[in-house]
Amino acid sequence: MQQPSKHGEVRVRFAPSPTGQVHVGNARTALFNWLFARQQGGKFILRIEDTDLDRSEARYETQLMEDVKWLGLDWDEGPDVGGPYPPYRQSDKWQVYRDLAEQLVREDKAYYCFCKQEDLERHRQQALAAHLPVTYPGTCRALAPEEAARRRAAGEPAAIRLKIPDRPIRFHDIVRGWVEFSNEVVSDPIILRSSGVPVYNYVVVVDDAEMKITHVIRGDDHLSNTPKQVALYEAMGWTVPEFAHLSTILGPDKERLSKRHGATSLANFREMGVLPEALMNYMALLGWAPTGGDREIFSPTELVQEFELERVTPSPAVFDFEKLYWINRHYIKAAEPARIAALTLPFYRKALAREELSTEAEAWLGHITAAFSHQVNKLDELPERAKAVLGYDAKAAMELPENAEILKAETTRPVLDAFCAKLAAEAEPIEAARFKAIIKEVQKETGVKGPALFHPIRILLTCAQSGPEFDKLVPLMEEGAKLGLSLSVKQRIEQFRAAFN
Ligand code: GLU
Repeated sequence: MQQPSKHGEVRVRFAPSPTGQVHVGNARTALFNWLFARQQGGKFILRIEDTDLDRSEARYETQLMEDVKWLGLDWDEGPDVGGPYPPYRQSDKWQVYRDLAEQLVREDKAYYCFCKQEDLERHRQQALAAHLPVTYPGTCRALAPEEAARRRAAGEPAAIRLKIPDRPIRFHDIVRGWVEFSNEVVSDPIILRSSGVPVYNYVVVVDDAEMKITHVIRGDDHLSNTPKQVALYEAMGWTVPEFAHLSTILGPDKERLSKRHGATSLANFREMGVLPEALMNYMALLGWAPTGGDREIFSPTELVQEFELERVTPSPAVFDFEKLYWINRHYIKAAEPARIAALTLPFYRKALAREELSTEAEAWLGHITAAFSHQVNKLDELPERAKAVLGYDAKAAMELPENAEILKAETTRPVLDAFCAKLAAEAEPIEAARFKAIIKEVQKETGVKGPALFHPIRILLTCAQSGPEFDKLVPLMEEGAKLGLSLSVKQRIEQFRAAFN
């Protein structure tokens, strides 16, 4: 049963901008919001922040919803499912933002700013040269309201700036405690551009307040935006929510995690055959650890139970790809074989260059997956891992130094000669039990046993010295040959004999 929440009614949101793929940084933000909401019996809201018209694209919105769903997160309110505080897409809400900004001007909490871009830029350069913080010099704050109204009426373009109060701005952050910013570094921010397009720091507050968000959980890259947002809440007379700024995620080289580090988007990980529950498990550990102990494997349900926002650390988290893959291996082994088989099919299709596969072929590939999946970290490794069955290259196998060594041994030729002679007399398909019996007979006849017996036969059959049991391999090869997707035992012998002379 749901425990009563110690945070009161919880409403949290994930507010991505649809400007590209969802990366682990944002995905972790979504996850922590979702875990907190689910655990507190609250609401998890998806809001699309597309005020950056140049960079926002509808296709990214569609993809981000798919990616977040794939991860296993569901939302209670959002652009697709609606909710009590629509719209859930900022570009559907321009008029609201404009009206509220005008209202702030009327209440003398904001003012029109007529400063030209060139003047602001000149001021910025001067501040930078003097190593001073870049702040607004306050030119238009000093304008008499009648003067401003007159210039507006004359059609002069104007932005709207918020008046930052003359005192430090403080807010509470669950991860960092009390945070304070000097009003001087904040200075009067623009909330509505002269083009009529509102800025992020403003719309985010309007939406969070209108959507009754109780906890703003997001990346710490937004920490320096927060005082501006708090000033807005205060100007509007709205309740300031709790904040929780999550630490930066670093790559293995301790630089901020980015595309440079390789796969970093949800789509990348899905395409590699990382399971969503594995990624969720791993991402939960980026900045959070359970009370006591160093347990690392948590199902989504366990995460919901054990997650504690208060235990999230402000220190940066290092993204450890190897650990993610190790966790993924655990989940691959634990998953329903049929699910893993289905998820692996696209990788075989690609490796075999076959768009279409028959039902029999798919079933056969499912058996291959079952035989090899415990050996992989990611599903995309399966075709390569299963090359003992899927591929065959006798020449390459012989050139491998470790194989060459074995093939050179004095006992190898008599073993292989006897083995091949016996198999030639067998009817196809060769049965696993018969195959084993033949090896026994070869052992008796040649007097060779152990690795000296098994290794050459294994190389002949699979091009490698180790791999799954013959019991598993032989039926897979015989069946695969019927489907035209593998070579039979006899075909392998033939190719091997041709190369080994
Ligand atoms: N659209 C912002 C981002 O993607 C959201 C920031 C916030 O959560 O307030 O970074």
